[in-house]
Amino acid sequence: MTRRKQAAPDKITAPAKARVVTPLTARATTPEPVDAATLREIFSRLSAANPEPRSDLEYLNAYTLLVAVVLSAQATDKSVNIATAPLFARADNPAAMLALGEETVRHHIRTIGLFNTKAKNVIALSRILVEQHGGEVPRAREHLEVLPGVGKKTASVVLNVAFGEPTIAVDTHIFRVSNRIPLAPGSTTDKVQAGLEAIVPEPYRLNAHHWLILHGRYVCKARKPECWRCPIAELCRYPDKTPGPG
Ligand code: SF4
Repeated sequence: MTRRKQAAPDKITAPAKARVVTPLTARATTPEPVDAATLREIFSRLSAANPEPRSDLEYLNAYTLLVAVVLSAQATDKSVNIATAPLFARADNPAAMLALGEETVRHHIRTIGLFNTKAKNVIALSRILVEQHGGEVPRAREHLEVLPGVGKKTASVVLNVAFGEPTIAVDTHIFRVSNRIPLAPGSTTDKVQAGLEAIVPEPYRLNAHHWLILHGRYVCKARKPECWRCPIAELCRYPDKTPGPG
């Protein structure tokens, strides 16, 4: 899908007059982001359908959440859960993980993609937590983002899920959903994150990350969105909605 340069996501602008002749076969416009009332209605419906959303990743505390999110890069949550259940039973804190050692961690996570690098990162970040943060997961973004294997997205997930901060970590699902509806369109995950954090109504901000991720994972799927069973179908402006099966 071609995407023209978008207006700032929190502004609703009138469609610009075409200055060039657009071939009839091409889509003349990309939908404008939904207005504030529609945005609120979208989150109201997602909230009603799943009042207490939670991550598909299984964890025991902030530390195991952090490790699980690090392991989930380019891996399914299901595969991570299978690997982490026995791993977290043996080590649910940084000191215990260090004592376990890289070789044992690698063995536990060998079914997950990039397991060699991830085992190194889990041990390295555990060492930093022990040596610099008293064995605790820091609540400050700047401390989280410098941990091995932890980028902006992982830090946002930890701040949101473990510490209740209204961050919206943008992964591939949220990026797709936000650009399709569109909520806060953008060409990069950083732009979409900034846009969403600026426009999502306050009562929905804490859980917006989960609602959008789950919506993208189970309904607004990448290859074939299941628009026929989507609870926000008539609010969504995606021009290529899919008809129901059969
Ligand atoms: S109507 Fe289709 S494209 Fe729009 S949010 Fe729902 S599943 Fe996604």
